Amino acid sequence: SDGLHTLGRWTTDRSAATPNRIAIDDRGCTLAYSELERRAANLAAGLRSAGYRIGDRIATLTGNSSDHVVAFFACAKAGLVLVPLSWRLAPRELALQLEVAEPQLLLVEDDLAALGAAACALLAHRPRAASLGPGGVEKSVPPPTRVSPAPETTGRQDVHDDDALLMVFTSGTEGAGKAAVLTHANCFWNNLSLSRTLDMGSSDVVLAVLPQFHVGGWNIQPLLAWWVGATVVLERGFDPGRVLQLIPERRVTMLMGVPTQYLMLAEHPDFASAELGSLRHAVVGGAPMPAPLLRIWHRRGVALSQGYGLTEASPNVLCLANEDAERMVGYSGKPYPHVSVAVADPATGELLEGAAAGELLVGGPGVFAGYFRDPAATAAVLAGGWLHTGDLVERDAEGYIRVVDRLKDIYISGGENVAPSEVEAVLLGHPAVEQAAVVGVEDARWGETGLAFVVVRPGMATDEQELLEHCSSQLARFKVPARIEMVAALPRTALNKVLRAKLRQELAGRPAPGLEPA
Ligand code: ATP
Repeated sequence: SDGLHTLGRWTTDRSAATPNRIAIDDRGCTLAYSELERRAANLAAGLRSAGYRIGDRIATLTGNSSDHVVAFFACAKAGLVLVPLSWRLAPRELALQLEVAEPQLLLVEDDLAALGAAACALLAHRPRAASLGPGGVEKSVPPPTRVSPAPETTGRQDVHDDDALLMVFTSGTEGAGKAAVLTHANCFWNNLSLSRTLDMGSSDVVLAVLPQFHVGGWNIQPLLAWWVGATVVLERGFDPGRVLQLIPERRVTMLMGVPTQYLMLAEHPDFASAELGSLRHAVVGGAPMPAPLLRIWHRRGVALSQGYGLTEASPNVLCLANEDAERMVGYSGKPYPHVSVAVADPATGELLEGAAAGELLVGGPGVFAGYFRDPAATAAVLAGGWLHTGDLVERDAEGYIRVVDRLKDIYISGGENVAPSEVEAVLLGHPAVEQAAVVGVEDARWGETGLAFVVVRPGMATDEQELLEHCSSQLARFKVPARIEMVAALPRTALNKVLRAKLRQELAGRPAPGLEPA
């Protein structure tokens, strides 16, 4: 079966079956399936003949675009790994990720050339760079960068199911975060199980507003659309007014977004009058969805379906069927087909039967291959043959699951995950900061935002404004704390670890008793 589940075939098959159907509508520029296939096959051949080998990594820095989709399918055909980097990051953060990924080539969209150059300027070993698109890499492919021996490459020509296809960075405690490696088989099974749930066909129109540097920008709806011959309307960014216009204009049938996006749509002045009748399947996931917001959409005649996933599971794990949307508000539902789940006692690791509360574990062909060049983190997250999600859930007697808390130390702001320790490290880089602790606090718009507590070094002075500017120069905007408070001391364990849980508890009942103001 090796090679049967590779994704490079998808555009070949669709191009043979329905060459003239529109695969992508990118800001009004359309790309038919035959054209997508022709460009992807040309680029794949160009990369192969320039010396790129199976397992080589092609990083991209681009907004959502059809050129990016061409690069994705070219990588799939040539056995290369697409590493989409986030344009939300600061140059320093991008440089850290490039150091981890060590791409043989970096493809940059012209509009992001300055950001790409600023990131590369920070690197000792710069990857070869080219511009994305028909006038750039598709015209002429530069030879690959070889910075170190590449143990991942194999020398074979044919692409296998277990070859890496996508490498996506997830937030991590150390600088760059971890790069999750998803194989062809992972993506194949994720899309197969999605297709058995979503009932998508060639007459569907998917509006894609999630960024393509997240797995959700590919695997939640767009890749399935290109498998079944549907049309994807690609948006570069998320503009609620435009989305409300595009839905009737392009007769959009499917949409996937994070809670913050659905809130921004619901708050838009055009929401009440917008014609949303074409929308037959709108999915929300990536962070907890507030029940009142779900109801607003239901009242507007759109049954939003809840979903739960994580990058390491490619990402789909749970979904709530449309008919359960009202009855089970607040639940993420049941496992997708081909996905197994278990609930484990977080203290002992013992698997719990029936109605239970504990850590959600995931199994099945969608579970990722591991973190790139990080065997220790991989072994920890896949211990015992299950993917440990780090999410605490409750499962009821009927098997419905709801996410109640997180064991892992992240918070989610507008659908983007943030590791508090990464923000703390940046704060500690300021000369006047002696100690720092960051917690995620509830926020009506973003779900959560960061609140930082800082202890200033004796004899030194700084203020919130100065520290915010310091953070902004080194962190993506979504990681910059919404507020920074100066305190005299931080609550710590006997081992001198900051008690973030205690900080959070104390925040709930402000004024915080354990925190004497500085
Ligand atoms: P993407 O990165 O493509 O947006 P994602 O949000 O599914 O995908 P991650 O960024 O890896 O993936 O974040 C996964 C985490 O988000 C989960 O472990 C969980 O903590 C949280 N999460 C996702 N969906 C839900 C949900 N429906 N309810 C509560 N938490 C969720």
